[in-house]
Formats: sequence, structure tokens, C-alpha cells
Amino acid sequence: MALIVQKYGGTSVGNPERIKNVARRVAKSHAKGDQMVIVLSAMSGETNRLIALAKEISPNPSPRELDVVISTGEQVTIGLLCMALEEMGVKARSYTGGQVRILTDDSFTKARILDIDGENIRRDLDGGAVVVVAGFQGVDEAGNITTLGRGGSDTTGVALAAAIKADECQIYTDVDGVYTTDPRVVPEARKLDTITFEEMLEMASLGSKVLQIRSVEFAGKYKVKLRVLSSFQEEGEGTLITVEEDKNMEQPIISGIAFNRDEAKITVLGVPDKPGIAYQILGPVADANVDVDMIIQNVGHDGTTDFSFTVNRPDYDKAMKILEGVQSHIGARQIQGDRTMAKVSIVGVGMRSHPGVASRMFRTLAEEGINIQMISTSEIKISVAIDEKYLELAVRVLHRAFGLDQAAA
Ligand code: ASP
Ligand code: MG
Repeated sequence: MALIVQKYGGTSVGNPERIKNVARRVAKSHAKGDQMVIVLSAMSGETNRLIALAKEISPNPSPRELDVVISTGEQVTIGLLCMALEEMGVKARSYTGGQVRILTDDSFTKARILDIDGENIRRDLDGGAVVVVAGFQGVDEAGNITTLGRGGSDTTGVALAAAIKADECQIYTDVDGVYTTDPRVVPEARKLDTITFEEMLEMASLGSKVLQIRSVEFAGKYKVKLRVLSSFQEEGEGTLITVEEDKNMEQPIISGIAFNRDEAKITVLGVPDKPGIAYQILGPVADANVDVDMIIQNVGHDGTTDFSFTVNRPDYDKAMKILEGVQSHIGARQIQGDRTMAKVSIVGVGMRSHPGVASRMFRTLAEEGINIQMISTSEIKISVAIDEKYLELAVRVLHRAFGLDQAAA
């Protein structure tokens, strides 16, 4: 008998037929004798609908009230799944985040989980019931409803699995695992049988939308056995996210290619080349809560230098305004921007032991005439910023250059 947490995403519970399908799956595992905790998202599109509804009333709703509204989608699906299970003769009980007591801080719309009380859940499991928990939501010390940020149901699933010491946390979604890259861009993309936490973290933070980043961090920290699977296939092992690279296996050099099209670049031209300049430029940007990603400061000449960085495209206008505001204060000659940038990253723990990965990446892009505007690296990833119009091409040629379309050895 195993204790399993299964999380189903929005498309998996997108209509009554699909909810019944999830119920059948859950009932099957339950019949085998496994104890089951199910975490659900809202029906696909529902959270967006609720946000749009709120914005129709108020362009800037109070975060507390926004959470009251957008947490309702999950309350609907948990009730419906329990009904479907009961229809099949399976005992089931739903819980909102507050009813479990998923305690969070009070940062509405992006709350962090502080503690989970597993008591109620355990009692129901021991009584033979399937427990169905609303993802994405919690409750703060004062009893206010909070939400965990978009995609937060993944984090609920992993955090619950850690709290009740589940044997495995299975994330059911509309893809059958983690792919070498987005198959919509590269049809030859392959499903990975395993990927390390480190690689998954990079993939998630670089734009692969399979798992919310925080859920991966959580799983790594608490050593939760995490697996991504399709809710639309009967069979399949999905992708297992492993703590360590398998030393017995020939590691591919690159495990995947992530990309993000919503990037923008800002260049501050002709600033005095002196200590403190990076701080003067980026300080006000950080104060406005704008995340800065890649940064380049050029070699100075004639006492001045140029300074470029990238931001997420939705933050571009805000960041430009801030810099235009401080332009004369920092003594910059000109502020330039480009809002149609994209970032492509190759990710793999195999990079640690294989030199020449960067040069192969750069050569591959050069052969296609794709200009690299910025580069950043970590131990297991190399990212380049390029013009958005070359994004698909770049991902395709890199996928081929690193042999990702070939089955693993
Ligand atoms: N329903 C929430 C969202 O759409 C949470 C989730 O699905 O993970 O972001
Ligand atoms: Mg999701």
C-alpha cells in the first residue's frame, strides 16, 4: 500500500466528462489499496475568467478580495470530483486550503506556504476515504484566504506530499511528461524518462511551463519523489524528476532547450564609467519590483560606457519610464529599448563534464545568421538573448545540433 498525492491540472478537469475520467483513474488506484490525496486546479480558463471579472469591477482590486474571488475555481472542482467519486461508490471528502489548514504568509496573490497540518487528511485516509484538496490556496494566520501565484496548485501538491510524507507526488497534466523542448515548436522533441531537479528548475525558470518553479524547489528541498504524467493516457511512466544524475548512465550533454519569447532589452548609452553606476541604473528598477535578467556592461572608452539588461516584456514600459526619469541624474546620453527580444537556453548537467558546449551553441546560431545580443551562463545552462523573430529557428537548429531528436543511448 502506498500513499500517493496526485495533482490534476485545469485541462484534466476542464469539463464534467474529464472530471469523471479523473474519478475513474483515482478509483482504480484506490481499489488497488493505495491511499490517495488528490489536489486539483480550477477548470481550464476559469482562473483567467475570474481575474477578468474582477478587473471589470476594479482595475486595481484589493489583493485580499482578489484572492477571495480567484480561489473559488478550485472549490468548484474539488466538490465535483468528490461527487463523481461518490457516484462510483468511492468514499471521498473535499477540503479547501483553509479546511486542511494550509497556513501561508499574508502576501495575497503570491503567498508562501509556512505549514501544513496533515491531521484531518490522515484521519480521512485512515477511514478509507479519498481526500480531495483545493490547489492554489491557503489561509493566513488571521484566517484570510490567500492564493499561491499562477500555477500554484503544483506547489500545493508537492507541499502536501512533503507534509504527509507521501511515497510519490504525481503531477497529471495535458502532456505525458517533460520534453526536450516544446513539441509545438520542434515536432521531433522527445519525452525525457528522467530529469534532475537542477535541470528541471532551470527549465521551469527559463520558460518551460510544465511545472511551477516553486513546486520544483519544494520537491528538491524536501526530497519529494516527483513525477509528471498525462491524465489523457492510460499507460506511461511520464518523467521522473530525480535528485541526482544517474552515474551509471551515459548522460546526454544537454537535456533540454527552454525559451521565453516575452523578453525586452534596455540599453543605457554613454553613462560615466565609474563605481556605483550599475547600482544607480538598476537600483530604481529593482525598487519598482521589476526583475532584471541578463546584464552587460561594456568596456568603457573616453570615460563613458554602455550598459544593457533584459526585463520581462510586460515590465518594459515601466522600466523605460523609470530610466528616462533618472537619465539626467545618472548622466546617461541616451536610453534605447527593444521590446521584441527572446531568450533561448540550453540546459544540462552534462555540461559540467563536457567542454565546448558554448562554442557549439554559438557556432550553430552563427551558421543560421542569428545574432546573439547577450549571453548568460550558469554551471548547467547557457542562455542567449536574440531577436524574437529568430526564436523558432534557433530552438530547432539547437535541438538538432545537440542530438536531442535522437533517442537516448
Ligand atoms: N488555477 C490556478 C491558475 O490557473 C492555479 C493552478 O491551476 O495551478 O493559475
Ligand atoms: Mg499548471
